[in-house]
Amino acid sequence: MGGTPVARQDKPAGTPDQREVNRQQVVAVIRGAGQIARIDIARETGVSPATVTAITSELISAGLVEEVAPEEDRETSGRGRPRVALRVRGAAHLVAGVKVSFRTLSLVLIDFDGTTLAEHEATLSEPQVSPDALIAEIRSALDEITAKIGRTTADISGLGVGLPGTIDALEGFVHWSPSITERNICLRDRLEKALPMAVFLDNDANLVAKAEQLFGEARGVSDFIVITIEQGVGMGIVIDGKVYRGTRGCGAEFGHTKVHLDGALCRCGQRGCLEAYVSDYALLREADVSLPSNANASRSERLEALFVAAREGNHTAHTILNRASRMFALGLANIVNIFDPKLIILSGERMSRDFLYSDEVIAAMRDEVVQVDAPPPEVRIHKWGDSMWAKGAAAYAMEGVTALAVRRLAIHA
Ligand SMILES: [Zn+2]
Repeated sequence: MGGTPVARQDKPAGTPDQREVNRQQVVAVIRGAGQIARIDIARETGVSPATVTAITSELISAGLVEEVAPEEDRETSGRGRPRVALRVRGAAHLVAGVKVSFRTLSLVLIDFDGTTLAEHEATLSEPQVSPDALIAEIRSALDEITAKIGRTTADISGLGVGLPGTIDALEGFVHWSPSITERNICLRDRLEKALPMAVFLDNDANLVAKAEQLFGEARGVSDFIVITIEQGVGMGIVIDGKVYRGTRGCGAEFGHTKVHLDGALCRCGQRGCLEAYVSDYALLREADVSLPSNANASRSERLEALFVAAREGNHTAHTILNRASRMFALGLANIVNIFDPKLIILSGERMSRDFLYSDEVIAAMRDEVVQVDAPPPEVRIHKWGDSMWAKGAAAYAMEGVTALAVRRLAIHA
């Protein structure tokens, strides 16, 4: 049944040796392929077939990987002798992901092969909570989601947590998050003190990049950029298959890149940031100046009224959204000119953001990138809900749990 608990003190310290790197690579290739024969693992990793055989038998005896009976292996059994394939053993570990957003916790439970076992949503008492209150709310939400499948929080090997804000993922440190009342907190360590499993913390846009890489539009793509649009604008950068985080965990602040000298005031305190033109508050600031509005309407009602007015041909409403989309196109063109990615994924959940995902925006971006005789980066639009953000958090935890489990093999070898 359940796998061996992952001891947190086994967390990788220092540089892993070559054998461990090979083990990690082998697991990653098996996971990526779904199921794959040993000889193909050797071909894909460049690790010798003898070493692959040794590593896979370690992984099988640790319960992380299992053989697929040849009759299930329809792909390769067409001709000749059927080859035994390997796959990740789903039951090896239970992994959870949680995405913290405005007043909501979205959770997902996955097994070790990435299959979703349960989803859950909990309401946060306040839009901004203390670290202790957040930890307590995550704990009770984990109790609820595990109960859905007859398990308990103690069965979870790893928890991934995605937060908006500036996060140092390696240190599990939150410099600042709009969801938390305090600054500069070691949230990962505090979560690990309160909960029985290993915890992995990251900025939510990085986790969307992780989800796109593992389950979404970026499977098999080594260099891509994900732009997320929610309350603010976020970005996840993947270079050579790895999320790029910057030195202080403050990289990829796409929303605060400057698109206008001495421009509109941003909530970060600076001027001319992209967010100061495209975020909810920026659109409402403009709408409040010259569009009639009901004084009792909520922010989201006022925003919706702006979108409706633009769709119905109101000139002012149209110019507000048009300026926001042109600024957004300018921001995207800057990203392309710096990174030259193969793929850009615009990832968001709300239909009302269509003005930012339009063909005109993508055409305007293409006009402003360096022109060469090669096709510009592909742009894909991927609309998803909060559960996919949570799945990104779970994917990140799954990588962490895998690293710990493989590390454990090395220690007990
Ligand atoms: Zn700013």
